[in-house]
Amino acid sequence: MQTVTVLGATGSIGCNTLDVISRHPEKYRVFAITGNSQLTLLMEQALKFAPRYVVVADESLYQDACDIAKQMGVAAEVLCGQQALEDVASAPEVDSVMAAIVGAAGLLPTLAAVKAGKRVLLANKEALVMSGALFIEAANQSGATLLPIDSEHNAIFQCLPHDYQYGDFASSGIHKILLTGSGGPFRSRALDTFKAITIDEASTHPNWSMGRKITIDSATMMNKGLEFIEACWLFGAGADDIDVVIHPQSIIHSMVQYVDGSVIAQMGNPDMRTPIAHGLAYPERIDAGVSPLDFAAVSDFTFQTPCFERYPNLKLAIDACREGQCATTRLNAANEVAVEHFLLGNIQFCDIADVNDATLNAMASVSVNSIQQIVEQDALARTKANEIIRGKFQC
Ligand code: NDP
Ligand code: MG
Repeated sequence: MQTVTVLGATGSIGCNTLDVISRHPEKYRVFAITGNSQLTLLMEQALKFAPRYVVVADESLYQDACDIAKQMGVAAEVLCGQQALEDVASAPEVDSVMAAIVGAAGLLPTLAAVKAGKRVLLANKEALVMSGALFIEAANQSGATLLPIDSEHNAIFQCLPHDYQYGDFASSGIHKILLTGSGGPFRSRALDTFKAITIDEASTHPNWSMGRKITIDSATMMNKGLEFIEACWLFGAGADDIDVVIHPQSIIHSMVQYVDGSVIAQMGNPDMRTPIAHGLAYPERIDAGVSPLDFAAVSDFTFQTPCFERYPNLKLAIDACREGQCATTRLNAANEVAVEHFLLGNIQFCDIADVNDATLNAMASVSVNSIQQIVEQDALARTKANEIIRGKFQC
């Protein structure tokens, strides 16, 4: 029996995780679930999975959460705030932690799980984008096991040799990691119509059903950029070791190319329950509730190289990856601010990349060597991005 904490239980990954867990009650017990604003859903989950703790990240909602819990007859103890998130991620009773809080807010709870030596099922890519070196170092020190849940990284993990040594491409005969992405909803849209892209259009992904923020990031391909950085840290790769390949059907979830010409790909229907089940059960396999891939129904299987004019955010992320931790932290922060303003209708789709670029250009590079410095740079970049948006768009 594995005891699991699900950080971000009310989100898209969180709900999919609980769906997989519900299929195997004999294997997994839920210790704690966390949410931020969806209190009723969180308490419904508490009723169904009977965790010991329910954590509400937003402290101002604590009383509401307690009232709803009482009304619904939830037996779990209700906690709130940042420290409680870290506590349920690192509690001695917990074996595995699903890190599925969205954005920079996931950094400290995920790190708490890493430092406590847990099996960390890593969906929150922003944690690695912000703190890659410190994060990997902390995992090495504590003996934490990192299992990638992002579908591409989970695919790469499955395609690497079992005895792969972190960063040692040569000994394993690896030529390249091929990071695939669908290209999002605007892959073939005329570039001169990008200014007219609406929030609804950008919020509709052709293949995947995901949370709001990552869906917009997929449309700009910032998501692939963040994944590029994530892959470098997870597998000890350099920026030259990874190629991004557009594969619109999202059947291949990524590949590893070997020096003898072999390419190993991981395939399946685009359903996050596959990597979640893989992470939960690793090294075993369990039913994820995902229908088997029907090759006869897959009519096209196509590939292309991404064009940076169409996806400027992808280039910004690859450049930041080459520059280092300070740049990737700032880019992530600026992007979270820009996406929020886009979703509020304050800026246009094309402005997201402009805000990100302007934020990076407005700040001199510094070295970051601690989590505190990373959190500081994250905050400074948010302030700068907001200033830029206020100055340019009067909002
Ligand atoms: P969602 O927006 O669907 O869910 C986010 C979760 O985080 C919710 O539980 C939400 O609570 C909680 N949350 C939001 N803000 C805060 C905060 N400030 N503090 C604590 N908790 C907070 O996101 P996704 O599930 O789509 O994504 C989660 C992570 O997984 C992201 O990092 C994303 O990049 C990554 N990922 C997602 C994939 C997907 O298919 N969705 C695929 C690969 C990676 P509430 O809803 O109650 O407000
Ligand atoms: Mg992904």
